[in-house]
Amino acid sequence: MTNTPDTSLLQGLQDTLGAELAADLVLSGPDMAPYCRDWHGDVQSDALAVLRPRDTAQVSACMRAAAAMGLGVVPQGGRTGLVLGAVPDTPARQVVLSLERMNRIRRIDADDFTAEVEAGVVLQAVKDNLAQAGLFFPLALGAQGSCQIGGNLSTNAGGLNVLRYGMTRDLVLGLEVVLPDGRVLDLRSRLRKDNRGIDLKQLFIGAEGTLGVITAATLKLGPLPEQTATALLALDRLEDAMALFRLARRQCCDLMSAFEFMPPLAFTLAQEAMPDLTIPMATDAPAYVLMELSGSGLVDVATLMERFLELAFSEGLVRDGVIAQSQMQAQGLWLIREGMNEGQARRGRHLRTDVSVPLSRLPEFVQAAEAAVTAALPGAVCVSYGHVGDGNVHLNVLPAPEGDADHQIEAAKKLIYQVLARFDGSISAEHGIGRLKRADFQDALPDTQRDVLVAIRRAIDPAQVMNPNCQLALGAGE
Ligand SMILES: Cc1cc2nc3c(=O)[nH]c(=O)nc-3n(C[C@H](O)[C@H](O)[C@H](O)COP(=O)(O)OP(=O)(O)OC[C@H]3O[C@@H](n4cnc5c(N)ncnc54)[C@H](O)[C@@H]3O)c2cc1C
Repeated sequence: MTNTPDTSLLQGLQDTLGAELAADLVLSGPDMAPYCRDWHGDVQSDALAVLRPRDTAQVSACMRAAAAMGLGVVPQGGRTGLVLGAVPDTPARQVVLSLERMNRIRRIDADDFTAEVEAGVVLQAVKDNLAQAGLFFPLALGAQGSCQIGGNLSTNAGGLNVLRYGMTRDLVLGLEVVLPDGRVLDLRSRLRKDNRGIDLKQLFIGAEGTLGVITAATLKLGPLPEQTATALLALDRLEDAMALFRLARRQCCDLMSAFEFMPPLAFTLAQEAMPDLTIPMATDAPAYVLMELSGSGLVDVATLMERFLELAFSEGLVRDGVIAQSQMQAQGLWLIREGMNEGQARRGRHLRTDVSVPLSRLPEFVQAAEAAVTAALPGAVCVSYGHVGDGNVHLNVLPAPEGDADHQIEAAKKLIYQVLARFDGSISAEHGIGRLKRADFQDALPDTQRDVLVAIRRAIDPAQVMNPNCQLALGAGE
């Protein structure tokens, strides 16, 4: 996407903001380049300007200025989203609103097990600060060194620990939001139970910046797990992984915090990204599971893991396995899971999916979808992995090198979504819709659901300022 800079529009924005504020907040020209692409870098866009407010009052000022000038506002966190939600698509008339300077932890209340943090705090920084106080914010994902709390909330991020702690919306007690007209909606709360009418904060969680700008949140915390047991297990098939998961749900006293499925190709991909990575076991099994139990206080997690694996071996579900003997070894096992993402990115353009089906049907779905892709696209490689304990699988496709990558990506996506429809699945288990999946989302949206979504957007944002064309493209007359 290219941008013909409209200097009069940019000047108008600066004038509306006022010279002093504009000098501090506004970026323009080549400095905007990093703010106009997200993690995978498939698309480099542009913007009229990038605005970087330092506090909630400045966010309000930005929103009022944008609304006065009829500009679209694209809120932005750490740019690790994978569906082009934080990247402008009409650069000449859209500004990026980056929350990166709103990065303060406002308060930590250990007795209430809550913390109030600003939207631009990086997830890893939140976790590290809380850990020092013996507290735990359970959200965990491969992008946690870059993604921000505001982005996590706006995408309702999932990640590695959903099966125990839920999605981001389950981890939040309150929100502070700046509405499209600049007003501040203060929904901050430390209450765990509060049934006073409709829970308004839930509207903004998962909205991908289409209803307002999240500026702060009150997070629901737990005690820091002092003990973890991590195991890498080799299996004969995905069906065994699902049986193992069911067994662990019943036998591990709800202490299972992660259960990740990986194909053997994961090791190759991870080592392509991290050549020094140690792989502690043979890599020729058809399927692998990375599993974690965790707990605090009087629980003996290490013994629980050992006893569970004895049971799993005796039931013939596991053919080989290693248990990490130290924190460092556990981190090494998790690097395999993280490295495989990076390895796929290094292979170039490929299809990323983020689908979910009912748990009980996951193996059948993966088999049917992979068969459809490999039959139609010889040479393309399916990489199915992820948070299978949530019924969520990333069924990615690396195109055959000799063919046209874009054609193969589009064809593979259609085939996978066709199979998915037969399984009553979702095209977005956790990454959201953004701009990348908008057409697929809209095409399958039942009329009544669309009417309700459009009514909510028009009620909160009648001028259609917020993240235009993200999730839904609203026509002028709607
Ligand atoms: C290696 C890797 C691993 C990943 N693993 C997972 C995973 O396991 N689970 C998962 O769910 N996701 C995963 N993701 C996707 C991504 O990290 C999440 O979607 C994350 O929550 C995005 O946060 P961000 O701060 O980077 O947001 P951005 O990418 O900057 O923005 C995402 C969306 O939120 C909106 N937004 C951002 N901040 C605000 C705000 N303050 N107010 C209103 N709207 C806002 C943007 O407009 C955009 O629509 C992964 C990504 C990568 C690169």
